Amino acid sequence: MKVIIVGGVAGGASCAARLRRLDEKAEIIMVEKGPFVSYANCGLPYYVGGVIEKESSLLVASEQLFRSQFNIDVRTNCEAIDISAKEKTIQLKNVETGEVTTEAYDKLVLSPGAKAIRPPFPGIELPGIFHVRTVPDVSAITEWIEKGNPFLAGMYRYSGFQAVRPKTRAVVVGGGFIGLETAENLIHRGFEVTLLQNSPHVLAPLDPENSTIVETLLKRNGIKLAMGDAVTGFEKAANGAINVQTKSGKIYPADIVILAIGVRPDTMLAKAAELEIGERGGIRVDEHMRTSDPNIFAVGDVVEVKDYVTEEWSLIALANPANRQGRIAADVIAGRKSSYRGTQGTAIIGLFGGTAAWTGVSETTLNRLGDTDYEKIYLYPNSHAGYYPGAHPIAMKVLFRKSDGRLLGAQALGMDNIDKRISAFAAYLQMGASIYDLEEAELCYAPQFGSAKDPVNFAGMVAADVLGGVMPLSHWEELKDGFVLDVRESFELTVENVSGATNIPLGQLRTRLNELPADQEIHVICRSGQRAYMATRILLQNGFNAKTISGGMLSKAQNYLLEIGPNEL
Ligand SMILES: Cc1cc2nc3c(=O)[nH]c(=O)nc-3n(C[C@H](O)[C@H](O)[C@H](O)COP(=O)(O)OP(=O)(O)OC[C@H]3O[C@@H](n4cnc5c(N)ncnc54)[C@H](O)[C@@H]3O)c2cc1C
Repeated sequence: MKVIIVGGVAGGASCAARLRRLDEKAEIIMVEKGPFVSYANCGLPYYVGGVIEKESSLLVASEQLFRSQFNIDVRTNCEAIDISAKEKTIQLKNVETGEVTTEAYDKLVLSPGAKAIRPPFPGIELPGIFHVRTVPDVSAITEWIEKGNPFLAGMYRYSGFQAVRPKTRAVVVGGGFIGLETAENLIHRGFEVTLLQNSPHVLAPLDPENSTIVETLLKRNGIKLAMGDAVTGFEKAANGAINVQTKSGKIYPADIVILAIGVRPDTMLAKAAELEIGERGGIRVDEHMRTSDPNIFAVGDVVEVKDYVTEEWSLIALANPANRQGRIAADVIAGRKSSYRGTQGTAIIGLFGGTAAWTGVSETTLNRLGDTDYEKIYLYPNSHAGYYPGAHPIAMKVLFRKSDGRLLGAQALGMDNIDKRISAFAAYLQMGASIYDLEEAELCYAPQFGSAKDPVNFAGMVAADVLGGVMPLSHWEELKDGFVLDVRESFELTVENVSGATNIPLGQLRTRLNELPADQEIHVICRSGQRAYMATRILLQNGFNAKTISGGMLSKAQNYLLEIGPNEL
């Protein structure tokens, strides 16, 4: 059997290696149009910032290793340019010599990834405008940072001009994870960074009240946010600088521009082979990663995936799905029965010591789909036992089905141990678990790592109480003219107060019940929701109609950030 794999990075390389492990006899050719295979594209922003010092560290496995250990015919600088699905042949071009050859295949695997979106803005070809997609991209960026224009090259150090223009300036266009990671790394390189984003918030998979936490962190670390404004073009400015022009009419001067406005599946070859392309613009595959042609498989960023929760066709460009899919395609080619379960969109980003991570569906998506069978909770548990030094709160939002408690999604932000919580949620979510399973989760615990009731258990317990009627819940945005009872201590109110709320500290509540209305819904608040829950229980058991406001003052703070908007932070 002769198998040709197009693309030598995440999906392609994992497919090639797995296939060799399963079939020692297969002839495997892996073609890669770039100069390297199996490079760490996820590490590229950190090479820009100097965190990863050597370019060679980005090269996870070499061409030679694929040849010697896996007996794979690796061809770098070799671009697949056409496919004849009828004849089962593919045309390959040597990028260095231009020579074109034709190879026959029994099975073909496409893993060409996605292309960075590069709209035809006026001036887009100006030197100094980059993508962060490949090793050559980041080499070009670092070279530009060192000597791209007279100012970057340090010429002004000799002229006294630095007193007038003391900092090098970067404009990063796009607030997705590549844009944000690169923005952080440019700050580390001493740039003054402006982040331009056409939508109101960064990190679209997060719900806006969580994106605002990220925006606050960015701003606190010196990134200027220009939200809700879009690039319209670029203009050459003095001394090799670039003026970034925007829809609002503003101009942002830059010594370097990073374009990170998203990616699009690279379906050039799929179209040549007349494969089915889905409505989202990716190659349609079945659960075995087979395209509409039974001899052609496709994996990674180029395919449309079924969203694990909503079952919608989606484009979700992440390394873990690409690797899993590459392995599944190899299994199927080797005659094994493997299938792909769908993509949950589990992702994480670290910025300036903080972390944001998420899995599953967001509330924004549920609202877009008109799905009302869900409830959400906000919690702020400690990352580990509060008495052990170094604990940090985690801002957590968990979404679940009202009707049966199925876990739908989780988002978490904080300084410590966010990854393990979202990884636990992700594993449960893929198993179709409910919040009742989270209640029962047996997770590792010692004070420096977690709590005897881990935040994941805690989320399950709160959600189960909400669905079981033990903790009727309300949310800030639903609150109209209801009676608000604040059960914090009076000294806490001097820091932050809710106007119109009645204050009865929790410890006094049982003796002051006569001050509360018996004929109104009472919305109970405290700092994070915990004391409010206890108060709600007291009130319910004394015949009052009480609800806990989820997340208390902390979720109000998030809503406040949302109200004022990122540009005003
Ligand atoms: C800067 C950056 C940071 C990222 N960080 C993360 C992260 O932290 N976490 C995460 O989950 N994901 C991250 N990703 C996304 C992740 O890297 C991708 O989802 C994953 O690499 C997709 O794998 P793939 O095999 O589909 O495509 P790729 O890994 O992009 O590989 C495709 C390869 O195919 C080659 N190719 C294309 N066309 C042809 C052709 N015609 N002939 C020959 N070769 C061809 C390309 O040159 C490319 O090398 C990041 C991506 C980037 C760019």
